[in-house]
Amino acid sequence: MRAQSSESKGDERVPSWKLVALTATLLLFFVGPLILISWLWGGPGFCPAIPMMEIMTNINDKMASPNPDGGADLVWGTGVCTIYLKPYDEDFDETESETNDFGVKIVMHEYVHCLQHGLVSGDADPAVRYDDIEVIVENPCGIPDVYVEKTKDAFVALPDAFRLVRKVVVFFACGGGQEYAQSDIETLVYGAGCPGMSAVKAPYANLNGFGEGDAEYLSLNVMMPSVVASWETPFDGPAYWESRQAECRGDCGMPGQEAFRLGDLSETHVDERLIPSMRDAGFDGCRNNCIGEIVITFLLEERRPETTPDDVLALWRLAGKVGFGAAWESVTGESWRTFSEAFERDPEYTDDTQSEGSEGQALGTTYLDESLPAVMAGVTACLAVVACASLGGLGRAAQKTIAARRARGPETRETIPK
Ligand SMILES: [Zn+2]
Repeated sequence: MRAQSSESKGDERVPSWKLVALTATLLLFFVGPLILISWLWGGPGFCPAIPMMEIMTNINDKMASPNPDGGADLVWGTGVCTIYLKPYDEDFDETESETNDFGVKIVMHEYVHCLQHGLVSGDADPAVRYDDIEVIVENPCGIPDVYVEKTKDAFVALPDAFRLVRKVVVFFACGGGQEYAQSDIETLVYGAGCPGMSAVKAPYANLNGFGEGDAEYLSLNVMMPSVVASWETPFDGPAYWESRQAECRGDCGMPGQEAFRLGDLSETHVDERLIPSMRDAGFDGCRNNCIGEIVITFLLEERRPETTPDDVLALWRLAGKVGFGAAWESVTGESWRTFSEAFERDPEYTDDTQSEGSEGQALGTTYLDESLPAVMAGVTACLAVVACASLGGLGRAAQKTIAARRARGPETRETIPK
């Protein structure tokens, strides 16, 4: 643009240290906020900060706990299922028997949770099946190989209807406190920069307490029978389910426990209303899994025995679009109010002839937390203001430098002919 540049080259003065310091500071305040914005939202090469911190906390907490519950996540947008569990009770039982599941029934239960997350978010689609699911088993505490093998083989024997996730990473936890850094999780689970991972979306708002019953029922009665077919002495899933149902009914005071109110069976209702009121009624053992299992038993034994696993997958898929209550009515043909009223009036269940049931669960927000998008947008806006102001400052500093050079220009030129 300017022919001057070659002329003035020999005349270029070293900028003052003030200008260098100012430029460096402005650059820092320009680049810094951009890096923070990328970190928050998962810009190129970055995993979104909030879901990544959450998943790291989940994994490292489970690894540190001496007796962790199982857990699973399918973070929105990734299509990768992570499962954490302690696969044995007390000893490393390496002998097949009708009661030894080698931890696989928990893996299958948790895998159903991944399907629920994926179906609700749209990451899993019953029409898209994976013949070869990539399975990684992390076994940092040296649990015998047979546990790892049986876990991997389970995904080979998995019925087709459930092959809806491309990759599964199973973490065996044993209280050893192994710490996974973010770089380990990227390498092992999601890939560098966590491609696809959503910064703010999470499926939790459209999940439901029914999910625990669904996970345990499908694991024991549908998946495990297929998984153990090749075992010499197969674990008996359906027998375990039967004995568990008797236990759960006892733990929840069935029949005739007045405090057992379905509400909309949202996870919030279960955690904040149903479990506390059961505890107050003297049934402290009545927790999420038993509650979900009692409800699915009522559905399958009393209301709709023809319900198939495909129906349940369709229910979750639809729950992500219209809410669990509306999805329930669409799939089962019965409103949640009618279903919950029947449950609560049934003499084998709550046994309250006056019950009028409850509304179903409405379509929920897709965010981790209601206020999160606003908070993140606010923080991003502040960072953007700082970056823009710094960019403006850089522009003005550049203008001044150019203007100063231009002002010197004619003198310089005059000196040339001499
Ligand atoms: Zn569960």
